[in-house]
Amino acid sequence: MLFSAIPGLDEIKEKLITAVKTNHLAHALLLYGPEGSANLKVALALATYLMCKNRGAQDACGTCDSCQKMAKLIHPDLNITFPVPGRSKEDDKDEEGRGGDILASWRRFVLDTGYGNLQDWVAHNGFTKQLNISKNAARNIIQTVSLKSFEGGYKIIFIWAPELMHVTAANALLKVLEEPPSQTLFLLVAHQPDQLLNTILSRTQKVLVRSFTDDEIRKHLLQDGFCGSEAAMQIAPLADGSMREAYRLVDQVADENTAKFRDWMRICYNLDINAIVSQVEVFAGQDKETQKLLFLTGLNTLRESLLNKSQLDHLMRTAPSDRKFIEDFGKNVLTEEKIVALYRLLNDSHYHLERNANIKILFADASFNAARILRKKS
Ligand SMILES: [Zn+2]
Repeated sequence: MLFSAIPGLDEIKEKLITAVKTNHLAHALLLYGPEGSANLKVALALATYLMCKNRGAQDACGTCDSCQKMAKLIHPDLNITFPVPGRSKEDDKDEEGRGGDILASWRRFVLDTGYGNLQDWVAHNGFTKQLNISKNAARNIIQTVSLKSFEGGYKIIFIWAPELMHVTAANALLKVLEEPPSQTLFLLVAHQPDQLLNTILSRTQKVLVRSFTDDEIRKHLLQDGFCGSEAAMQIAPLADGSMREAYRLVDQVADENTAKFRDWMRICYNLDINAIVSQVEVFAGQDKETQKLLFLTGLNTLRESLLNKSQLDHLMRTAPSDRKFIEDFGKNVLTEEKIVALYRLLNDSHYHLERNANIKILFADASFNAARILRKKS
């Protein structure tokens, strides 16, 4: 994770980078912020910056072997602790195996958006028991602290959601938190620091990672291609500073577009002339961004259909609610040849739309051509 991958928050990045450069970084930091803030991402960017072997003035290099390992969260000197379901005595027997699986799951969870909260973590794994950071986990940390770093540089003890640390675990940690060996940094990432023990709180330097501004959210959604400018303008204030919420709203908009594309394909396939004619009117009445979005959504749907047909479902990005349409559409209607033909059609339509073709003719043509492709006997 690089600082540059985090939208906005310039003053927070600056403060941390300066602390590293001037050797003023505390040995235990608590990065806290409201839900949907970038506290986890900022902590990981800071860790990457510290570990980087070719540090720049504003960011880690992103290419050295340290940065590459940090990008996958597999750096051996990054010791990660997070809440897991409480275990019974029997479960402890295969702790090793489970530990590995669950760490891989955490990495996927974090690398997905990095804005997930504890409920998302529970949902990601389908946990049913209460989560905590156990005394065992604390013992592990203490052991790690006592060892030399693998690569001779910093050793980072990374604790996500320390709010769920068991009291005995917290007490066990206090001593090392107070006097960690040199070149060891504790990074705690929390949403609700008031739920931490005072003894832990008082031993960390607190860094607030504030909510995003509307402008930071809007720019990010637009520049990184999450949605068009109109949607970004609407979503930014609704997200209320939370990137997690902004992504959820983007998904919602995407779902609506997939539904629109689905309905359009249905009337084409059924060659429902009346419906096509009234659809042409609706389409022509929309603004250009919305018009483009229908074609772009179509292109994405076809790409997903092809992945689904090629049994590459793990590469699909569509919301589960749209999967059924894509699967059925792929199974019952589309051959690979038809997917290619439709893809070309939508791509051409998008191209001509950009160049101000007559909207009604363009959309009517696209509809009848789509009908021809979809209905062709194979
Ligand atoms: Zn680097």
